[in-house]
Amino acid sequence: MSESGFLKYQRQPDAWKAPLDRLKSFDEFHIPADYETRMEQASRCMHCGVPFCQSAIELKGMVTGCPLHNLIPEWNEELFNGNDQYALDRLLKTNPFPEFTSRVCPALCEKACLNGVDSEPTTVHDNEFYIIENGFEKGWVTLCPPQTSTGKSVGIIGSGPAGLAAAQLLRQRGHEVHVYERDDKPGGLLQYGIPNMKLDKSVVRRRIDLMKDAGVQFHCNVEAGRDLSMEELKNRHDALIIAAGSRKPRPLAAQGMENVSGIHYALEYLSASTKSVESQKKPAINAKGKHVVVLGGGDTGNDCIGTALRQQAKSILQLEVMPEPSETRQEDNPWPEWPKIKKTDYGQQEAIVLFQKDPRLFSTTINKVHAKNGKICAVDLVEVDNHFRPVEGTERTVKCDLLLIAAGFVGIEEGLKDSFHLPVTARNVVETEPSSHKVKNSSLFVCGDAKRGPSLVVWAISQGRVCAREVDHALMGYSNIEG
Ligand code: FAD
Repeated sequence: MSESGFLKYQRQPDAWKAPLDRLKSFDEFHIPADYETRMEQASRCMHCGVPFCQSAIELKGMVTGCPLHNLIPEWNEELFNGNDQYALDRLLKTNPFPEFTSRVCPALCEKACLNGVDSEPTTVHDNEFYIIENGFEKGWVTLCPPQTSTGKSVGIIGSGPAGLAAAQLLRQRGHEVHVYERDDKPGGLLQYGIPNMKLDKSVVRRRIDLMKDAGVQFHCNVEAGRDLSMEELKNRHDALIIAAGSRKPRPLAAQGMENVSGIHYALEYLSASTKSVESQKKPAINAKGKHVVVLGGGDTGNDCIGTALRQQAKSILQLEVMPEPSETRQEDNPWPEWPKIKKTDYGQQEAIVLFQKDPRLFSTTINKVHAKNGKICAVDLVEVDNHFRPVEGTERTVKCDLLLIAAGFVGIEEGLKDSFHLPVTARNVVETEPSSHKVKNSSLFVCGDAKRGPSLVVWAISQGRVCAREVDHALMGYSNIEG
């Protein structure tokens, strides 16, 4: 056993390229450490009797620990002992796509790691990256067509991480699986959302190719509800899963926005950027030479900053309506709760180095847009109090040629809701039977953001797994899918 490494070694996460260096391209900026370092880091895992890292417990309404219940102490132990293939087996037992989570997951596991009580947590995220990428390099990651067929067919609407996880597991079980995707490529937000520098699109393609080889059938440029009705889909398949995400953007209510160009929702902007990186053509929405204002201080807003800087924006301002969080955990937010602290992510770091100034303004929003010849040219900012009421006398005007709205999402889109007669909750996500992925009063199933609301890749995968098990059970009367 290796449980004393935390006494010998400091935490050493993988490095990132320096900010000005990484701004030169849309390439991934993560630099994996060498094998010896990863083994040492794996030895920092304490092999806790009760590993909080794999627990996914909810504390004060927020989850800490891995929603996939990844067997983290087990694969850390195998990694430390040089048993890379065993480590991979243990990792793949609970996580069908570690190549995605080890790149984009905010590592709920590390927030719950016992080492974090009085020291630095184990580098779970980067150890996972080593295990899966080493597995791909050695040719150990394979996906074969099932040996027997159940004769049942499943249709899945949406090819984000939730739909992909359900598709992979149901195919391995022996069902015929068809995934319908309205975009031109599968992957959901993995493909058109999360930018290339965090998740290179070759990584998404690699997984889709494996799934195609195993017999999953993808139908792109097909919008369920418009190109195929619910009745047609029900006739084709024995079970239907909605995995269409939570894509309705929260609008900005500011004066002067009507018929003004240069205002875009974040997803529109980010997907246009990914398309341009892939086609090597100019992006349909370009920040080059522009004063960019990003409304929304979350991860999506940060991705907009990183993208706009790579397109050579002239200036960046990011507005967050919430007050500035503290730099460290407060007494009422102890381990292993999710830490409510200020995070300076890659895009914000890059802006700070490039412009020598933090791009963020907290407790601030926009109350008016100014335009010249129909194009946005400035916005009026206003500070807000803790009840989000404008504070009189704080208004000021700043230049803005491109306004990106990254203010979050407010549930499923109307088209799908209407055409599939989906019941929704107060949060505008699909309502299910209690503790189930079965849509309320319906034969349909649902998983991912369409059920949970805007969340994380790891949650989408976790729900895709559990949903696959429920669908399998409904089709076969029992299930051997581990959900
Ligand atoms: P989605 O990924 O949204 O996929 C849904 C798919 O359904 C889409 O491809 C859509 O085109 C398709 N679809 C919708 N309607 C139809 C229809 N009628 N017919 C056919 N297809 C349809 N999470 C992290 O963990 N880490 C991150 O770094 C991270 N970064 C993010 C960055 C951005 C910009 C955004 C917006 C989100 C980010 N998230 C991140 C959140 C994460 O991407 C989502 O929680 C996750 O992708 C949800 O998966 P899903 O499969 O439920 O839905």
